[in-house]
Amino acid sequence: MKSQTIYSSLLLCILIFTHFLTISAERCVDILDPTNPSDTVIIDCPPTTNNDVYVKHQTSNFFEVTLNCSATAALCNNIKEAFNDAGKEISKVLKLKQIIKVNATFTDFNNAAILGSASSARYIPLTSDDKIIRRYPQALVKQFSLDVHPEYNDYDIIARFNSAQDWWFRTVNETIGSDQFDFYAVILHELIHGLGFSSSWGNYIELADNQNITGLTPNVNFNDDSQFEGFTERIFDKYVKFIPNGVASTSTYYTSQLNESIPIGTSFNNISEFVTQIKSSPQWNYAEFALLSAITNGSLTFTPAKNTSCNDEIYLESSLNPYVQGSSISHVSLIYESTSDFLMKYIFNRGESLEYLVQRGGNYSSPIGPRILSILETIGYETYAYPNPIIPTYEC
Ligand SMILES: [Zn+2]
Repeated sequence: MKSQTIYSSLLLCILIFTHFLTISAERCVDILDPTNPSDTVIIDCPPTTNNDVYVKHQTSNFFEVTLNCSATAALCNNIKEAFNDAGKEISKVLKLKQIIKVNATFTDFNNAAILGSASSARYIPLTSDDKIIRRYPQALVKQFSLDVHPEYNDYDIIARFNSAQDWWFRTVNETIGSDQFDFYAVILHELIHGLGFSSSWGNYIELADNQNITGLTPNVNFNDDSQFEGFTERIFDKYVKFIPNGVASTSTYYTSQLNESIPIGTSFNNISEFVTQIKSSPQWNYAEFALLSAITNGSLTFTPAKNTSCNDEIYLESSLNPYVQGSSISHVSLIYESTSDFLMKYIFNRGESLEYLVQRGGNYSSPIGPRILSILETIGYETYAYPNPIIPTYEC
């Protein structure tokens, strides 16, 4: 009798700790250039036995950065130091178990509007607790310590920073100039995208056919025979709600509807044929509703899981009209600009250092605010208790 009790409690523990995630037969998606989300490669990632090395939980920086930098040695050193500080800051709030490898490049974007960009280097399909296959960022999958996991990319996060900007480094003993951007603040922001603060919804399919944008979809999949295999959300999207004309629906519902638009397995000769057929289906309405939400203030939310750092609905960026791929959706709304959650708004202003923004946001002891933490917790990261505020009483 006693041993039976032990077996049943052991079984319960196993059920609890398997995290409801199972490996899916789908292939992985590698992002080649974070500034161009359409630049992806579908890649085989066969099940691989976990041989991650044990990392001491006292490790102060879980981020290992390979920096490609052709600027002066002094500038490249400042960049390295900023990465080191950012890695430590994130390691203070996220309870990480495995090293996160970052491939970072400091290069001229030939586009003055962009400061930097980062993405998970590989998105890995796993079956979530609602039996739906979604793509998870590799950095997060590593933290799940699955016994067998889809094969990993060499890097977890791919990041690029624009060398043509006038950067300020807090480690250099000068106050920020009115034309400068705080490099450290931008690194923190970009690493959080790389950890999985990123939606799959975008304007890819109409863009690929040079058509006007009338709708948004999650990433679309075709197999090697050019057969439609449906749309796939990211884990971030599981918690996104679209609210066109005041009616809230989940991203998961819209995705399931779009997956009814064309029979799975239908072959297409080219992208134009596919775009024409899906736009003539009644389900294209959902793509239009997604776009309407993404360009209407207050019409796009993220619902955090219970018992995370913030349990309120979090508004996502939906003020930009026309829609801007990379800025709309995958950021918090500008209503949080002067709060402790300023870090994940889509825009940084010249002359504003991270220290200034932290002060303005309520002077909490971490620049990673409770809403940002809550989103990371909801998609699956463990966190340490939210750092105590200095002043005033913490609220979200
Ligand atoms: Zn961003």
